Amino acid sequence: MQRGLMWFRRDLRLHDNRALAEAARACDEIYLVFCFDQEILDKLQDKEDRRVDFIHQSITEMQKSLSRNKAELIVKYGIAREKIPELARKLKVKSVFANHDFEPKALKRDAAVAKALQKDDIAFCSFKDHVVFEKDEVLTGSGGPYKVYTPYSRAWRKRLTVDDYEDLTIDIKADRFPALPKGIKSDDWSLKAMGFKETDLQWPGGTSEARKVLDEFLERIDEYKDKRDLPAVKGTSRLSVHLRFGTLSIRECVRAAIGNKSDGAQTWINELIWREFYNMILHHFPHTEDDAFNEEFNDLDWRESDSDFQAWCEGRTGYPIVDAGMRELNTTGYMHNRVRMIVASFLTKDLRIHWKYGERYFARKLLDFDLSQNLGGWQWAASTGTDAQPYFRIFNPVRQSERFDPDGEYIRRFVPELKDVKGKAIHAPWEKPSLFKEQTGDEIGDDYPEPIVDHSEARDAALKMFKDAKE
Ligand SMILES: Cc1cc2nc3c(=O)[nH]c(=O)nc-3n(C[C@H](O)[C@H](O)[C@H](O)COP(=O)(O)OP(=O)(O)OC[C@H]3O[C@@H](n4cnc5c(N)ncnc54)[C@H](O)[C@@H]3O)c2cc1C
Repeated sequence: MQRGLMWFRRDLRLHDNRALAEAARACDEIYLVFCFDQEILDKLQDKEDRRVDFIHQSITEMQKSLSRNKAELIVKYGIAREKIPELARKLKVKSVFANHDFEPKALKRDAAVAKALQKDDIAFCSFKDHVVFEKDEVLTGSGGPYKVYTPYSRAWRKRLTVDDYEDLTIDIKADRFPALPKGIKSDDWSLKAMGFKETDLQWPGGTSEARKVLDEFLERIDEYKDKRDLPAVKGTSRLSVHLRFGTLSIRECVRAAIGNKSDGAQTWINELIWREFYNMILHHFPHTEDDAFNEEFNDLDWRESDSDFQAWCEGRTGYPIVDAGMRELNTTGYMHNRVRMIVASFLTKDLRIHWKYGERYFARKLLDFDLSQNLGGWQWAASTGTDAQPYFRIFNPVRQSERFDPDGEYIRRFVPELKDVKGKAIHAPWEKPSLFKEQTGDEIGDDYPEPIVDHSEARDAALKMFKDAKE
């Protein structure tokens, strides 16, 4: 009789889960565990963290669904490096099954778990699940990692076969999941016991919700290409948080879209490939967690300004599109991709503040925070990354606003001080002070701030900063 333990981490689903399928293939009986890891939770500053709430909701749903099948999910709260080997030992399993987690800290944790298990002759088996292709699966002709997205995406598509996105769902039958031995039980994993609180989460967790969001998106996927850059409309899928925590499988997304030849569906697949590209980049270039991918830009003469950084964080820069984005992030935990690019460009080029500050702030606030994607996005916007925005192409926040939020609908949604500003003035209210006074009854700088920087001067200073570094 072979017994295994399936350890869920960033794959919070029972269907189409590679490690679970492998466990079912190798074992007669499988125990299931999720551990709320104190080494991660204790570092979270905000005790009303929407991500913890999301995970909690997803685990609750998993447990309910298992109990309908008379199976059980063991939920632990503590240090995963210790809790998992201890549980595996007590359950007398032969192997622990998990899906790859590729972030540097997770790799260290897994190495420690594997080492501890080895002492009891228990194997640690981990599998690819989070992406379609990982590590060295898509390489250049000369065998190295790609550093440019377009040839990578071509090679990715060329390599793809139906086997790469097959459905790995197994039967959740009770006889596969034995009753827990005496003395083995879940810890108290209520949010309160872990020191957290329920939040105003607008993206409920769980696989049923993920499926609902995917189905709803599939009805409008053909329009994705035309609408994906407009933050005021529902043009994108809003699936990033589900992909982050694995309440949706990446293979499910590919299966749903690959046969659709519309420009919308194919553009969406390109975005999924960007996700794979950045995942591969972090694997091959882990130093990009702290340093510029492009070494030439490692010693840029960044500015230090606590007050400007604070104004950016709070959405009080005086540039409405930037402020709307930061307030969307602060109040919902999400920000539209186009606006992420605008605010990141503003911080690094207009304020010349190191991208690492922005990256860390996003890491604290984003519901879909994923180290590889966040680093990729930030280093792209800062022009320090792989296949990044060239340093001399600097976003003008007003032009971006006019182009992508032409009616100012997105701005008015998140910046209430500007709700009475009519027409085009919304993009740069300081340019029409008397109109602003007439429409809002306020002077610029009373309630809504004056711009903290002059874009054209800031642009010149940023160009100089990059040119100096190149010289
Ligand atoms: C500065 C910056 C930071 C970012 N940080 C993160 C992050 O921490 N986590 C994260 O998941 N995404 C990040 N992104 C990428 C992107 O903004 C989000 O994935 C996207 O906004 C999520 O919305 P959606 O699910 O509706 O995306 P859709 O447009 O529907 O795209 C589908 C999926 O493709 C992937 N994707 C989309 N755009 C990108 C992109 N530009 N790069 C890589 N993958 C992409 C995501 O998994 C997304 O869910 C960042 C982008 C920038 C510019």
